[in-house]
Amino acid sequence: MNNRGAMNNRGRKGPLRRICPIVIILLVLVIFIAGMILIFTKGSRTGEASVYGIENVEQYRPQMSVELLTPNPYSRPQTATEKITGIVIHYVANPGSTAEQNRSYFEGLKDSHETYASSHFIVGLEGKIVQCIPTSEMAYASNDRNNDTVSIEVCHPDETGKFNDATYDSLVELTGWLCEYLEVPVENVIRHYDVTGKLCPLYFVEHEDAWEQFKDDVTNWIKNHQ
Ligand SMILES: [Zn+2]
Repeated sequence: MNNRGAMNNRGRKGPLRRICPIVIILLVLVIFIAGMILIFTKGSRTGEASVYGIENVEQYRPQMSVELLTPNPYSRPQTATEKITGIVIHYVANPGSTAEQNRSYFEGLKDSHETYASSHFIVGLEGKIVQCIPTSEMAYASNDRNNDTVSIEVCHPDETGKFNDATYDSLVELTGWLCEYLEVPVENVIRHYDVTGKLCPLYFVEHEDAWEQFKDDVTNWIKNHQ
């Protein structure tokens, strides 16, 4: 009896011992997968709406002409950007030049090899917005901040670097929308000057009040498009 009982016990324990590790592994797997799903869905939800709470930001995208540069090492190296944390404003420093002319200059660098330069966006004299580089790729515009910022070059009629009304309005709209689209707070909209001390964009460097007004206008645009 004792012997048989012992044998029976062993007989019952055998399959249990084999099943237990499988059940535990399955349980751990299920918990791990459920955890990952939770983390990712939570992450994407906060990614959509953590700063401005906008569910469908595409509806406010300003009219823009997407004319991407030909990939090349001098102006579109196709290097992936890190998480975008700022937006950098520039002026083209070439009075009277148009958005198309400035885009052509960047495009031409693939042949001239003159320098490394580009910008994600150019805002033209009539307020036309041209996109040259996807925001997921790096532009050569803002030195040490190239890898985590999006750059906007802005055209201007004369040497003062002051933007005309059409250009200014488009710049406010584009900057406001990029803040929403890329989840960048307005305080992280900066001048090239704030990165390197370069006098760019000239008018906003020489007129601090105009720069503050610009950021107020961007803030108001965001308030009106939520
Ligand atoms: Zn600049």
